[in-house]
Amino acid sequence: MAEIRVDHLRKAFGDFVAVQDSSFTVEDGEFLALLGPSGCGKTTTLRMIAGLELPTGGGIHLGGDDVTYKRASERDIAFVFQLFALYPHMNVRKNIGFPLLSQGVPKAEIKRRVEETAKLLQIDHILDKSVSGLAGGDRQRVALGRAIVRRPKCFLMDEPLGTLDAEFRDVMVRELRELHNRIHATTVYVTHDQIEAMAMADKIAVMNHGIIEQFATPREIYNRPASMYVADFIGSPPMNFLRFSAGLPKGARIARIDGADVQMPELRADVAPGELALGVRPEHIRFSDASPLRGAIYGAEYLGTNQIVTVETAGGLVRARLPAERSYRIGDRVGLSFVADRLSLFDCRSGRAIP
Ligand code: ATP
Repeated sequence: MAEIRVDHLRKAFGDFVAVQDSSFTVEDGEFLALLGPSGCGKTTTLRMIAGLELPTGGGIHLGGDDVTYKRASERDIAFVFQLFALYPHMNVRKNIGFPLLSQGVPKAEIKRRVEETAKLLQIDHILDKSVSGLAGGDRQRVALGRAIVRRPKCFLMDEPLGTLDAEFRDVMVRELRELHNRIHATTVYVTHDQIEAMAMADKIAVMNHGIIEQFATPREIYNRPASMYVADFIGSPPMNFLRFSAGLPKGARIARIDGADVQMPELRADVAPGELALGVRPEHIRFSDASPLRGAIYGAEYLGTNQIVTVETAGGLVRARLPAERSYRIGDRVGLSFVADRLSLFDCRSGRAIP
């Protein structure tokens, strides 16, 4: 059992609160991504789980044990940093085996486990090469090998792919996920990259100024963002917001935006009068001549498989992801319609989704 439970975790540096009252559970074998912009408290959360930083409040349980005040070395975890130093004077085999050697594991057992680990990472053909001549992806695999050879209960990773170029990153994202599928170690992975988080994680915690805005599966986060912040952070281009002022009764299915009636999911409760925003993902927009919600083509970005077309409406710019075939002329007027059951509604004052 290697469940990680974080209860009301808090960390202040003097007057500055880096992590505020965070609670979540990473189930045994689950992959959690801590996602958010620079400075939102991801690394601080991870360092507290690792035992590298003492919390100001709250607690941490690993596999049911309270480890809040235990030293890092007393927690059965492996920490993979962004910039990990491999030992340049040692070959791949020695680099991977080093943690076992320092634990006093017998030589034959080290050999067996290093070879098993190298096979898992598909680097068994370079075991006797020097690490100094290796390419970025292979170096990363050696570093991973060194982390997994001990078979820790949990992996904590802080932007491990941060220094790789885009092409290697894509490969490593796939490899890390496949590795996880094979070894099922409970993992917490810090990243500011939504694509990494969406592609790898079973659950994502989206952080903002030390607060977890939403903790859910990638699909829930994408399809049912809990706040405008999450809706804006996830998706590229992000969700469009069409702002309007209204009070709406329970059961309402129509929002009046820029003088046009727009169909939306049925409201489950009354919504008090105020500033609201209808959230629509670019891929849920269609151009339809009959729609009274109109705008002018502002620009188009051809992406090969599809295109992002920007439309200037009375309420601001709206981005639509459309099939690539048609080309559009700047300034042409178009009507916009939306896939009604895929829309979200937000309260602009609190920024929270209206369920
Ligand atoms: P990044 O990706 O830039 O590392 P992050 O989301 O991981 O961002 P943290 O490193 O957890 O953010 O930092 C959260 C906030 O706490 C930042 O504003 C940072 O300046 C502050 N902070 C972190 N460590 C300390 C420290 N030892 N003393 C003072 N402030 C700190």
